Amino acid sequence: MKMNKHPLTIIVGAGIGGLTAAACLLKRGLPVRVFEQAPTLGEVGAGIQSSANAVKVLYDLGLREELEQTVVRPQAFEFRRFDTAELMHRIPLGQEHERRNGAPYFHIHRADLHELLAKAVLKMDPHCIALDARATGFEEDSDGVTLHLADGRRETGDVLVGADGIKSAIRAQILGPTPVSYTGDVAWRAVIPTDRLPADIMDTVSTVWCGPKKHAVMYYLRARKLMNFVGLVEHAHPENESWTQVRPWADLKADFEGWHPTIQTVIDAIDRDGCYRYALNNRAPVDNWSTARATLLGDAAHPTLPYLASGAAMAIEDGEILARCLAACDNVPDALQSYQNSRMDRTAAVVRESTENRDLYRIEDEDEMRRAFHAKNMSKTRSEWLYSYDPLTVPLAGAKEH
Ligand code: FAD
Repeated sequence: MKMNKHPLTIIVGAGIGGLTAAACLLKRGLPVRVFEQAPTLGEVGAGIQSSANAVKVLYDLGLREELEQTVVRPQAFEFRRFDTAELMHRIPLGQEHERRNGAPYFHIHRADLHELLAKAVLKMDPHCIALDARATGFEEDSDGVTLHLADGRRETGDVLVGADGIKSAIRAQILGPTPVSYTGDVAWRAVIPTDRLPADIMDTVSTVWCGPKKHAVMYYLRARKLMNFVGLVEHAHPENESWTQVRPWADLKADFEGWHPTIQTVIDAIDRDGCYRYALNNRAPVDNWSTARATLLGDAAHPTLPYLASGAAMAIEDGEILARCLAACDNVPDALQSYQNSRMDRTAAVVRESTENRDLYRIEDEDEMRRAFHAKNMSKTRSEWLYSYDPLTVPLAGAKEH
């Protein structure tokens, strides 16, 4: 099954992962077609944290200057007590992160990152993204792969990549139904214009407010014009996993009753119809997500809880590694195996660590919590295994680049 020199890759999903993969492939001169179910390109209004490992890929795509216009560079993660705001632990970011890991740590509005990636893709190929195109499944043989769209169209190519998110149709075909386990947490999200808040409400940091059975994360976006709020709260009943489910503001207010005045000020400034809440489900890592001609990427491959703020970073890394494998290998099955083997252990480790962090950020016993922070030594260990990783140069499993 020798590969033609320019295999056509079909990508399902124009989220952050699908667009990054498309840009990384096009940059190498490899043709791509992206099929997105939504009628317009876009992302939800929320923040995303992007560490050096992902920023290296974004810089390599030529986005450095445009990113600088819109990102916020936090100076640290600060873990504070929910009621007194006492600082319990600090992980330096800023110059320290850049020095240790070779690129900065950014807070970015998801819509801004998505727009930059879409622009980069469309600049290289103005016709490669098809909207209103919902994938339902695929078939493959030794000559190629055919994508089935809901409107009856068939699209053929050499490789299929399911970058269609947590409820991936492509994953369902490759792996069958995936059992989910409810974490017991729901996530509130909201974005607040900072002109509604006192100017000195918070330094340029990512604050994690740690309390019993819940925690909250706050950070600035868009040159400090917006504040991102995420509240992670134990909730008895699993509910919808949709990111766009609006819930009553009064329920959010009640969830954080008795918390520090800073949190009350932020919650009070949230639009009453701008509170979103959704269930956080866990899915165990799998040990195979590819066939001979089809594979998965981002949340479709390794859905990741938000407690390490690294799900999108993994999708961005996937895009770069997949493109490197397709450029390096002589045939599609070898390229997909190399991609999968290069990504499996790392993404599984991120899924595991994200799951474990849920409890780390909750105060049950304060002394125990401080000991756990100290023992984890996150400043050092996260750099060593997570942030210093370089998707542009890391050796590929079983593939030699020319
Ligand atoms: P998605 O972003 O879900 O994109 C999938 C795309 O596929 C969508 O455009 C969708 O419309 C399309 N699609 C779906 N089905 C079909 C179909 N059948 N046919 C065609 N198109 C289809 N990660 C970080 O790195 N940093 C963070 O700070 C961070 N914070 C987070 C906070 C919260 C509360 C949560 C829940 C997640 C967070 N994440 C974070 C994780 C991150 O958001 C995801 O890992 C990331 O968005 C995954 O990108 P993706 O491209 O794989 O999937």
